[in-house]
Amino acid sequence: RAKEAGRGTFAFFEESLNRRAQDRRRLETDLRLALERGEFELYYQPLFDLESNRIGSFEALIRWNHPERGLVSPLEFIGVAEETGLIVPMGAWALREACRKASEWPDHVRVAVNVSPVQFHRGGLNETIVQALAASGLAPQRLEIEITESVFLDGSDATLKLLHALRSIGVRVALDDFGTGYSSLSYLQSFPFDKIKIDRSFIENILTRPGASAIVAAITDLANALGMETTAEGVEDNAQLAELRSHGCSSVQGFLFAKPMQAREVEKLFDEGNQARHVA
Ligand code: C2E
Ligand code: MG
Ligand code: MG
Ligand code: MG
Repeated sequence: RAKEAGRGTFAFFEESLNRRAQDRRRLETDLRLALERGEFELYYQPLFDLESNRIGSFEALIRWNHPERGLVSPLEFIGVAEETGLIVPMGAWALREACRKASEWPDHVRVAVNVSPVQFHRGGLNETIVQALAASGLAPQRLEIEITESVFLDGSDATLKLLHALRSIGVRVALDDFGTGYSSLSYLQSFPFDKIKIDRSFIENILTRPGASAIVAAITDLANALGMETTAEGVEDNAQLAELRSHGCSSVQGFLFAKPMQAREVEKLFDEGNQARHVA
């Protein structure tokens, strides 16, 4: 009986593996079509500058308007897009779209775009960015790219060269999700990032774990010493905000202020002139 049950379990396991492989192939095809059909949309989440008490930038966050499934989170498709290389045209679209939208915003407001390591390693990123800026007329200083430490994992000089080239034309570079993954302080000495984004996991625990608060304090001090700005990700309540202020964090992003919103909501925000909303 045990043997039979074992076989049953195996058959079940195999079936579920098959289904997963099928789902994945389906997702690949769907993503390709979605790109052709224009089913992707950028949402924008404000980052509040704690010194000026106003919005300093918006982070562009991709969403997929799926005809049947509705709004799909990037967490469900960025991985497959990276594995298949689809992230290259998808990311190029995001850069063009974000620059185009930001060119209609007030001059002091920047846009931040997430860029995948795959976009760095497959080449063409420099040209894509230069073209997105030229086509939109957006000043390079108003574009910030967000990268994670994983772009440095292959240890190639090409990544650093590309970053320096982007910086030399005025594009800003932020280090995203800092403190997670492969965190090594050596990245901070190898490139003059404009900003460090402190990962949400630290903000989440800032009031409950003494360690988290100490880490945030240390990161902000380090960033200050290096002449880099800091953004706290995922700020959800006022107590966290107070703590972050006390540590001298330069800006904050999170549901306390606003969730990612559609471009037309951003424009409404500017029309109403209430960009300082919520920041006490
Ligand atoms: P990320 O770059 O770290 O973006 C921040 C994520 O935190 C966003 O999730 C945002 O909606 C979420 N978030 C912001 N404030 C809060 C908060 O107060 N509480 C909580 N619980 N979450 C908050 P989202 O939009 O689902 O994006 C997830 C990730 O997908 C991003 O993480 C980024 O790594 C990736 N991603 C999004 N858009 C793009 C894109 O255009 N290109 C690439 N390569 N990756 C993207
Ligand atoms: Mg980001
Ligand atoms: Mg982040
Ligand atoms: Mg994050």
